[in-house]
Parts: sequence; structure tokens; C-alpha cells
Amino acid sequence: MIVILKEHPEQTQLDHLMGWLKEQQIEVHPTVGAHQTILGLIGDTSALDIDLISALDIVDDVKRVQEPYKNANRKFHPEDTVIEVGGTKIGGGNLTLIAGPCSVESEEQIVGIAKEVKASGATILRGGAFKPRTSPYAFQGMQIEGIRLLLKAKEATGLPICTEIMDASQLPLFEDIDILQVGARNMQNFSLLKALGRTRKPVLLKRGMACTYQDLLMSAEYILAGGNPNVILCERGIRTFETYTRNTLDLACIPSLKKLSHLPIIIDPSHATGKSSLVPSMAQAAVAAGADGLIIEVHNDPAHAKCDGPQSITPDAFDSLAKRLHRIKDALAD
Ligand code: PEP
Ligand code: MN
Repeated sequence: MIVILKEHPEQTQLDHLMGWLKEQQIEVHPTVGAHQTILGLIGDTSALDIDLISALDIVDDVKRVQEPYKNANRKFHPEDTVIEVGGTKIGGGNLTLIAGPCSVESEEQIVGIAKEVKASGATILRGGAFKPRTSPYAFQGMQIEGIRLLLKAKEATGLPICTEIMDASQLPLFEDIDILQVGARNMQNFSLLKALGRTRKPVLLKRGMACTYQDLLMSAEYILAGGNPNVILCERGIRTFETYTRNTLDLACIPSLKKLSHLPIIIDPSHATGKSSLVPSMAQAAVAAGADGLIIEVHNDPAHAKCDGPQSITPDAFDSLAKRLHRIKDALAD
């Protein structure tokens, strides 16, 4: 971090700032020019409040030269993080396919889809029990019963389960769930992130629709700093001026987040496009761009799905897509 002082800073205030920085274990390297003095701050500046320093009378400007996230930063953790879930590995060169309906609707539906996607190569089953809907009048999910049915599907197929947690108070209900999904709307629900940091459960953290890479990594930092190293990043499209697609899929996030962080990155082409016809090509592009996996909505009867039918692909479409995705992954390894 670099602190640029105003001309002729008042000495007692400067001494006070230097003393305070020393207390924070920060080394200060001043460069005194004819008109301006610059302080180079060396050490872990991630906990320093940039706004607090900027507001001081003697300070002209403050610039961060290092990212404010430490645990999520590749600089401090050069190796890829690999997360083990129910016998499968996420990250480190594996292609993880998470598939299933937007929401659990019945035992027959979730167990049937689970069997089909498993046969096509999915390694994790998705399905919402608690649904964050824009309208309070829309289907809110089967809730506790939905969790029970997901566990039935796990029993029937052996597939680990990924489902969304909306509030920290729901944690006891998720004890047997393998991956806790934090939805886009909850990416900055900091009390939820802190609670997840106190567990060791893998967390699929979805990027908020108006959030930057840094925002996403700072949210991951909440979970990591709490002591839970099992964070998976997920891009699910962001809001732009385009209205043809539900969101805009930002595939540049894959090489960017891989450069900035060691955490695995999963792409959700279903919520990113909102259209089942666009899901296969975006899924293929994501694998070609180096994604660690995909989370795809699959429904046996998309036209009658209770949630997100227009973006859900059929089990047959998933089957041929999964084969193509593995071919692309293999071609990249050559
Ligand atoms: C979902 O996965 O069904 C979902 C609601 O996702 P998002 O939070 O990305 O909208
Ligand atoms: Mn959905």
C-alpha cells in the first residue's frame, strides 16, 4: 500500500500515523521529495482500512498495490486447491459435472433425474430445496421435505448433493448435504458467509449479479478467514444491458480468477443464459476456457418445471453434452 501525504504534513499527526502503523506490524518506508512525501507500507495490509487512512488531514491519497484478500490469493497459495466431496475431486485438472433440476419437485422427479444424470457422467446432484425467488408468490421450494428427498436421491445413486442454503439458521438441516450453495443474491450475506466459515463443508459460492471478481474473492475470503478452506467459485452470469439472454456469461472470469486465486471455478451456463438452446455451446466454451466444472440444470419435463424450465435441458441433451465436454477436456490435455 502506498500513502501519499499532503505538502508539509503536520509533524505530530505524521508521528501518530507512523506509530499506529508500527502497532499494526506494518513497516513504513518513507520517500521524501521536494514537494511530496510518499510512505511505502510493507506487511499484511489486508486488514488496514483504506478509507480511515484516506480521511486523515495529512493524507492526500492512498493506493493499494496488493489485493485485499490473502487467503484466496494465489500469491500466498500457488498450488490449486482441490476439494474432495464424496469420493470425487473438484479442481486440480478434474472436470466436475454437477447436474439436476432447479428445484426438487417430488421423490419420483429427483430420484429419476439423479439416476439419469449419473448414468451420463454427472458426479454431483444439484437441486434446490429452499428457493430464492424474485416474487414472494412464486414457488419457494419444498424446503425441509426437499432436503429429505435429496438425501433419498443420494441413497439411491450415491451422488453427493449440492443445494442452496439461504440463511445461517438453516445449517442444522444441511448436516448430511455435501456442498452448500450460496446463491448469487446471497453472495454478500456476510453473516451467512461467517457461519459457513465456522464449518468445514464445501461451499459453492456464486458470483453476485452485480459483483466484481474482487467482490467475489472478498466474499470467499470471509469463509476462508473463518477457517473453512473448501470454497468453490461459481460464475452464473452478470447483469448487463443485454436483454436477449437472462444474464451475460463472463467467461473471461475463468483465466482471470485462476490467475488471482487458487480456488476451483465452476460455470453455470443455465442461469447465465436463461435459454436451454444456449446451454450446450456455453458449457463447451467454459470447458475450453479452463473451467474446473459445470453446474447445469437438467429436468425430465422442462415445459412443466416449477422453476427455471426454459433454461433446463433434458437428460438426453445432458447425455450428449457430457460426452462432448469430456472430449474437449481430453483435447486440452494433449
Ligand atoms: C439456482 O442455482 O437455482 C439459483 C437460484 O442460482 P443463482 O443464485 O445463480 O440465481
Ligand atoms: Mn434455477
